Amino acid sequence: MNPKNKILFAGDPHGDFNPLIAAVHRYKPEAVVLLGDYDLEMPLETYLHDIIGLTQIWWIAGNHDFETPCKHKHLFHSALADKGLHLKVTEIAGVRIAGLGGIFLGRVWYPPQQPKWLNKQHYLHSQHTNTLSLKYKGAIWHDEFEALKTLKADILVTHEAPGAHRHGFDVISELAVAMGVKNIFHGHLHENYAGTIKNNIKVFGVANRNVANLSGNTLRHES
Ligand SMILES: [Zn+2]
Repeated sequence: MNPKNKILFAGDPHGDFNPLIAAVHRYKPEAVVLLGDYDLEMPLETYLHDIIGLTQIWWIAGNHDFETPCKHKHLFHSALADKGLHLKVTEIAGVRIAGLGGIFLGRVWYPPQQPKWLNKQHYLHSQHTNTLSLKYKGAIWHDEFEALKTLKADILVTHEAPGAHRHGFDVISELAVAMGVKNIFHGHLHENYAGTIKNNIKVFGVANRNVANLSGNTLRHES
């Protein structure tokens, strides 16, 4: 096996997991990491039935996964619910992978603007409620982001893009530098590209329904 295919990264499936399934059959990775935006009409494990047991499956959420209660439930209450990587570092196939799901939301924190709230409690108090709407659940919160920054990892996976992309955010680049990662893989923008940021960190955008390996190379769909 090509060691660069040990872990594969899947760009926004938007309901079509066939390219990922084909790549797992062809390249037999130890693990796959899904970069968000699943548009699930059934629980995630239903879509991935063919490859469960063949490889480890890990994920972060994208903005679409908070769009409706159904899409949210089919991810966060799926059989793979405990495989989320958001806001922590997980050792996967010998590599420390940090995850940051969700997106920046103007009503919560839209860098480089200052955050609107100290944390979720601060926001909830101000609204006189105990429940966070899905929209707000899918946001990147400043305090959680700062906590992630104190951890160390080899790879950072995000839904939003870092500063390497014209629609990216410099704070994600700063997060990567602080965590000491060598690579960032992200989805959301539906574009395959490679870039370099500070400290020679390599950034790989993975387009929708595309699969990339540890070198950031896009793998062919055909099996
Ligand atoms: Zn997205």
